[in-house]
Amino acid sequence: MFVYADNAATTAMSKTAADAMLPALRELYGNPSSLHQKGREANYALMDAREAVAKCLNAEPREIYFTGCGTEADNWAITEAARMGAEKGKKHIISDAIEHHAVLHTLKRLEKQGFEVTYLPVHEDGLVRLDELKAAIREDTCLVTVMYVNNEIGTIQPIREIGAVCREKGVLFHTDAVQAVGHIPVDVIADNIDMLSLSGHKFHAPKGVGALYCKKSIKLKNFIEGGAQERGKRGGTEAIPAILSMAAALKESCENLEENMAKITAMRDKLIAGLSKIPNSRCNGDPEHKAPGVVSFCFEGIEGESLLLRLDLAGICASSGSACTSGSLDPSHVLLALGMPHEIAHGSLRLSLCEYNTMEEVDYILQQVPEVVKTLRQMSPVWMHMLEKMPDPYKEG
Ligand SMILES: *Cc1c(COP(=O)(O)O)cnc(C)c1O
Repeated sequence: MFVYADNAATTAMSKTAADAMLPALRELYGNPSSLHQKGREANYALMDAREAVAKCLNAEPREIYFTGCGTEADNWAITEAARMGAEKGKKHIISDAIEHHAVLHTLKRLEKQGFEVTYLPVHEDGLVRLDELKAAIREDTCLVTVMYVNNEIGTIQPIREIGAVCREKGVLFHTDAVQAVGHIPVDVIADNIDMLSLSGHKFHAPKGVGALYCKKSIKLKNFIEGGAQERGKRGGTEAIPAILSMAAALKESCENLEENMAKITAMRDKLIAGLSKIPNSRCNGDPEHKAPGVVSFCFEGIEGESLLLRLDLAGICASSGSACTSGSLDPSHVLLALGMPHEIAHGSLRLSLCEYNTMEEVDYILQQVPEVVKTLRQMSPVWMHMLEKMPDPYKEG
């Protein structure tokens, strides 16, 4: 059996996304800036796509800026908010310890440039606390950036409440919503969001396209100098096929949101219940405020990497944490921020589902993972060491 359970890293393109992209690749080759009919044709399609994306977020089309990826949208939003803050003498930013590297590394660069960043702790459940946010806001705070859904453990932050605090204090609020848009309801008005990043390939659109939502009252400066594209703020001829495909994929995801969420949540809950039966295991992140598709576990006494290789041999594509940090031997910064000891954080497994997965696949995962974990433990010196201090959970009676 083959199971793709790494949808938080990237998703397969949907038929809808491909159907929107292929004719655009073949026929919509006009440059949207050209005045002739081929140009106008592409421009109208672009306008429709912008409107569709805006509608899914409860935004206005002019508040949507297409970008090359989610990372670019994060970089743009944070860099711009910092620049606007610095103009008013405000050089303090608030974020948290479990952000994606697109956010964390942008903040690191700003710190080198003289900004001060407060990283809110996330507690064992992976959630930021509103009272701690309130206490961290200062006169010179120019930006709060907190992700909507965490890509490693799936926790959903109290975005609406965080946004309300920021509104009350007059501080800009950006959220990296790459794992939220297309997965759970997102409404920039109701959620009090000023800026939001999204990425197509996390909801069945192709890689290499994303968007930044920026509230119309905010005067964004140009991010890429060039032509008049994206209201002059992000030059470069628009990636029409990718943008149309992303709009179609997002529209489809939003139309089927409730149905997909119910289906994915049922699979997720079965996975969590099954994996919890493995001795010395723990499920990471708050059980209640959790995205439908992300399951994160730690198994004591084993290495996440060996677990992944064995699962791969069994046909299961999973991840130890985020795709971006794999390849490095350091345990995930997210799991460490939950207060987890290094040796346990090493034995992590992330399974991320989408609406294309099936209960049969979940059953297969639940048949494979406990066996692989058991086998690896039998070869693990760390596990042997642990057995000196506890009864062997695999021994009967
Ligand atoms: C995938 C991801 C990104 C990066 O998006 P790209 O389009 O791959 O650049 C940013 N933030 C989060 C939370 C993500 O999961």
